[in-house]
Amino acid sequence: MGSKKPKVIFKINLYRDAWNYYCAANSNPKWGYDFSKIIKPEIVKKVRRKKWEKTRNYLYKMLRKGYSIDKKKMNSNLKSIKSSWKKVEEKYFQKLEKITKKKIYTNKFHCYITTIGRCPYNQKENWFMVNIFSNDASTTIAHELMHLQFYHYFEKEIRKTLNEKQFQDLKEALTILLNMEFKGILKEKDKGYPGHKKLRNFIEKEWKKRKDFDVLIEKYINYRDILRHPKGCGFLLRSRHSKTQTVP
Ligand SMILES: [Zn+2]
Repeated sequence: MGSKKPKVIFKINLYRDAWNYYCAANSNPKWGYDFSKIIKPEIVKKVRRKKWEKTRNYLYKMLRKGYSIDKKKMNSNLKSIKSSWKKVEEKYFQKLEKITKKKIYTNKFHCYITTIGRCPYNQKENWFMVNIFSNDASTTIAHELMHLQFYHYFEKEIRKTLNEKQFQDLKEALTILLNMEFKGILKEKDKGYPGHKKLRNFIEKEWKKRKDFDVLIEKYINYRDILRHPKGCGFLLRSRHSKTQTVP
């Protein structure tokens, strides 16, 4: 038929990478993980709590120096990330379609390269970032694409019931499905965030019982309902879980 197969287009964009450094250096611990720790302390010192306009030149120059020295390595890494992904791309999208029971919502995604281990995404512009030094880039790509598909089809409806934090928790915890359904496609496991362990276990258990995405989401929302009323259920496990969460 007329519709093209979805694909990921890879790009190096220093400006976006600089912005990613800035965001990481200015971030607070989230879901049990501190992204400011992945940036060299001297860089954090230079840009934290400062305006982007005041720091971008510094970051841009720093990256340009780094990139130009390592240009060969950058290009060869990018090539290998690309070729590994292209091998699994079609299968991945087919599987994601099957799991979410929705067509992949666009046929063009942009992947920008970053030089740190923080991989943001933008669901409105269909892009995400991947770390060029990562040895499990395909798993990261799969992770980010799953977020984008999820946002597109489910965000509006789910937000009627879940608050921001609950929605974000669900979105992240759902990537446990990569470890169950994409075994033959992805070599590396999706690790998730330390703060989401119990939610991921819940999803894993329920998915094994019934492989239906809509049903899974409904079960999760009900589970979160219980979380909101710990007294009524009194599950030690759940109240403990909410304590381990770090509110961004
Ligand atoms: Zn994520």
